[in-house]
Amino acid sequence: MVTTLLSAIGSLVTNDPAHGDGSRLGEIKNAAMVIDSGGRVVWVGEATRAPAADMFVDVGGRCVIPGFVDSHAHLVFAGERSAEFAARMSGEPYRAGGIRTTVQHTRAATDESLALNLASLIAEMHRQGTTTVEVKSGYGLTVRDESRALMLAGQHTDETTFLGAHVVPSEFEQDPAAYVDLVTGPMLEACAAHARWIDVFCESGAFDADASRAVLTAGIEQGLGARVHANQLGPGPGVQLACELGAASADHCTYLDDADIAALASSDTVATLLPGVEFSTRSPYPDARRLLEAGATVALATDCNPGSCFTSSMPFCIALAVREMAMTPAEAVWAATAGGAAALRRDDVGRLSPGARADLVVLDAPSYIHLAYRPGVPLVTDVWKDGRRA
Ligand SMILES: [Zn+2]
Repeated sequence: MVTTLLSAIGSLVTNDPAHGDGSRLGEIKNAAMVIDSGGRVVWVGEATRAPAADMFVDVGGRCVIPGFVDSHAHLVFAGERSAEFAARMSGEPYRAGGIRTTVQHTRAATDESLALNLASLIAEMHRQGTTTVEVKSGYGLTVRDESRALMLAGQHTDETTFLGAHVVPSEFEQDPAAYVDLVTGPMLEACAAHARWIDVFCESGAFDADASRAVLTAGIEQGLGARVHANQLGPGPGVQLACELGAASADHCTYLDDADIAALASSDTVATLLPGVEFSTRSPYPDARRLLEAGATVALATDCNPGSCFTSSMPFCIALAVREMAMTPAEAVWAATAGGAAALRRDDVGRLSPGARADLVVLDAPSYIHLAYRPGVPLVTDVWKDGRRA
């Protein structure tokens, strides 16, 4: 197997406390890394101790971090909703029902146009350092349109999520229970083979506790892992339900009470925070400090979607988390890499130590701190995926 030595790494974030300074980030200064042609990290350490390798890359003193793991994104859709954004910025509140507008456009779109839009968003994410992304369905809401969305998503990622329970489509408005029957029956049957996860928007205006439980339970019975859109627009049962059902992640977590925090802290359900949504809907941010201090595992993700948050940028979310949610730069970078991996129950990504995938980002900066210190600046200079510079 051919090996490549990346050397002159000014700062290497491994996310493995067994390395470097022993912190959660496992940061090594003046570091080197060896990766193999199988796309794996085989060695990390101080550059002066680096073993010989077949190829050599000089990183020029820059900082290297694990590729971002964006564990929450909605990328299969058509159309855009900038007018709705402008209205919100003029004072109108965000409502879950706006999803239906995108549903209309998505149903009417050709496979080709959906595939093109999706590929363009995946490429946009990659340029900004995202090497693993979860992609949800949820803008089709028919058996055909949901399975089509998941098949398209599966061409780009293994982390595909069936979100038939995103909102009750208008044709079922008079009989939402019949829609839950469709989601847990024929729609799930058509989608399960194309999805790794099942998700539900547990929120008033979307699905209540009983409907959410029915959806998640049906998915789990089909072998899917659970994730939940929980406690976004107000207090609610989503977080408790996620923890009770062993969901990998409860996402949003904007309105939490003490019992919700305790449930997250004592479970392995990750609290995934999506601060781009609060930014784009001008809403209060989740209390990240309360979660961290209670011992919950926190992830950061974009929630990239055409309605409530149309950013694909993990660096932007890191800057928001630091500035608006009082996370330290170290906590935010961890949450956007290792945290995202935990939210997808992955241990091969989100870290750079032996055995991990060689998915990494070279920053044109001496330290990861610059991601928050220099917000909006395109610091990502190189992105490697599976050991190859793309
Ligand atoms: Zn979402």
